[in-house]
This record gives sequence, structure tokens and C-alpha cells, in this order.
Amino acid sequence: MTEFSGPAVAESQAVLTIDLGALAENWRALAKRVAPAECGAVVKADAYGVGIEAAAPALAKAGCKTFFVALPSEGRRVRAVVPHAVIYVLNGLFAPSVPMMIAHDLRPVLGSLDDAALWAKAGRLRPCALHVDTGMNRLGVAPGDVDAIARMDLAIDVLMTHFVSSENANDATNDIQIARFASVRGALPHARASLANSSALFLPQKPYGDLVRPGYALYGGNPTPGAANPMRAVVRLEAPLLQTRIVEPGETVGYNAQWTAKRRTRLATIGVGYADGLPRAAMGIDDRLGGEAMIAGVRCPFAGRVSMDLTVIDVTDVPAEKLPGATAVLLGDGITVDDLGLRAATIGYEILTRLGARYYRNYVG
Ligand SMILES: *Cc1c(COP(=O)(O)O)cnc(C)c1O
Repeated sequence: MTEFSGPAVAESQAVLTIDLGALAENWRALAKRVAPAECGAVVKADAYGVGIEAAAPALAKAGCKTFFVALPSEGRRVRAVVPHAVIYVLNGLFAPSVPMMIAHDLRPVLGSLDDAALWAKAGRLRPCALHVDTGMNRLGVAPGDVDAIARMDLAIDVLMTHFVSSENANDATNDIQIARFASVRGALPHARASLANSSALFLPQKPYGDLVRPGYALYGGNPTPGAANPMRAVVRLEAPLLQTRIVEPGETVGYNAQWTAKRRTRLATIGVGYADGLPRAAMGIDDRLGGEAMIAGVRCPFAGRVSMDLTVIDVTDVPAEKLPGATAVLLGDGITVDDLGLRAATIGYEILTRLGARYYRNYVG
């Protein structure tokens, strides 16, 4: 339960609780699943919104040695809190970043022939990874270019690729990508193979290679959509009710009157809005369900548009005597990041990475 007291809560109203124990447990569960392959951790985008400075040391303490970030700035932040970490920068090598990559001992994931040439100039013996594109067409060299890069004698310690649809176990693309990767594997026999993101750890093909790269599942997202979530929830978001009111049938709520009361309705207002990362698309409008909050154990729908700093919730089904002192749980008590993503026409990944900066952050575990 969240403790609603103290000056920080008084300033921020909503409390974001981040369970570092659950994060560590999720990492250990995945590490056990893939052993003897090594389990790394993806901590890009501020560790999927939960905070690099808290998450990276917690993961390191659980036994994680290898970290993946998108940007050099994120790599610098991991280096500051986990001095001995092996850190790969997924977004490739950007020429202006080379000095700081070297200064902070960050390993680029080379994603083009230009990247490879640039790193060769920086010093062939500095470790790096090579990303081979097997179907994503986003970053990575073509399979046909791997031989040429192998001849450059770079210190490539990891050969990686990335799945297009690993969350769909029946998607034929998974097998095609595994086969394409296997066809270039021999060009760099000393590099370790890395293919798998969170969902790929649950594919029947078990494409673990030597090093896996889970992100989403570590933070409690469901890597097996459509089936039960095997991971523990890491984030909980809870906000106090600022006020309640009764409206009569026919009255509307919020901007542009997008929700109309069909019955005598009790409404509660919370101080969380789209400026906090609660998607505006989670609005509850007539005849279309939006986001929900758990209030005194009852699932309550959003009413009307989510505004910048405020959201209104239909709490009619909560017994009135339970409302004084009650809070609205937006994430937690059975409401997952995947649920909110679905109700907001997005995915749980976006819910996590947009978790707002105005919440009081309470790290536990
Ligand atoms: C983000 C990312 C991952 C982690 O993916 P999840 O689905 O969050 O586990 C792994 N590899 C690469 C290249 C990525 O960009």
C-alpha cells in the first residue's frame, strides 16, 4: 500500500512506486530461463521510464553484467552507477559521439558499413558489437556485408539481430530471421550470438544464442500477449481523489462534452493528466471504454477527456462510505501497463516510457 503522507506527496499528489525487488526477481527468472546463455538487461529510455540510476544498480546486484542502452548519454549514466558494467549502445555509432564513447568505455553496436569504418579509425581493438539486419530494415548491415566487415579485423565480441514479431509465436518471420542469422554466424565465429528481446525468450525455437537482451519483461510488461503474464509488476501508480461530485443524467464531463451521464453519477477527479504520461487517448467517451482505475477495490471507468493535469472517473459503483480517503490506482491492483496501453490505442511500452516526471517516485525493495 502506498503511504499518502509527507511533504513529497503533498507536493506531487500522485505516487509512482517502483519495486526494485520485483525488477531483480524478473531478471533472475529470465536469467534462469536462458542459462547457460548470459542474460543482459536493456535499460534504454531511462530504464523504460523507471529510472536508470535506480534500475541499473538493482539489476547489477541481481547479477546482471551486460547493459544495453539506445544513446551514449544513457550509457554514461549507467557507467556512473555501475562502474564495471559492459555497456552496448544500440543506436549505432554517431561520429560526434566517438570521443565520449571511448571516454566512458561504451561499446557501439555497429549498424552500418559507415559505423564500422568509423570505429576502425577509432581503434580496431576497442570492443564493439555488429548488428546484422534480418528483416527489420531499421538498423543493421545486410547479411551480404558481414563477410566484408569480418575482414576489417574489428574486435567484434557480439553479433546481434533483432526480431520483427517475436511476440507472435506463430509468425513465420521468426524462423526466417533465425535462418538468416545462422547463415552469417560463421563469418564471425568468435563473436557471441545475441538475438532475443523479451518476447523471444518465450518462443518455442529458444533463440537464446549466447547473450539475451530483455527490456519490457524486466519492467513487468507481458512478453506473451494473449497468455498470462509470467512477470511480476514493477510499477504502481496511485493518486488521491481531489474531490467528488454528483451529476444528473444528461450532464456532461470535461472538454467538448464527450461523455454524458446515463444515470445519476458520482464522479471523482484526480490530479493526473496527459502531461504526466496518462495518454489522452485513454479518454472515456460515450459508447467507448477508456482507461480505468481501481478505487476501493472497484474497477471504475474514466469519464470524458483526459486533460493536461486532471482526469475524471465514474465512481458510482463504489459504495459511498468507502470514498473518503480512497485513492485511484491507475497501475496496480490488477491493472497492468498492457491493460492501459490497450485502452489507449497504444502498447505498454509507451505507457512505461512516458511515465511522468511530476509523480513522487517511491523506490521500494
Ligand atoms: C529495445 C530493444 C530490445 C529490448 O526489447 P524488449 O521487447 O523491450 O525486450 C532488445 N534489442 C534491441 C535491439 C532493442 O532495440
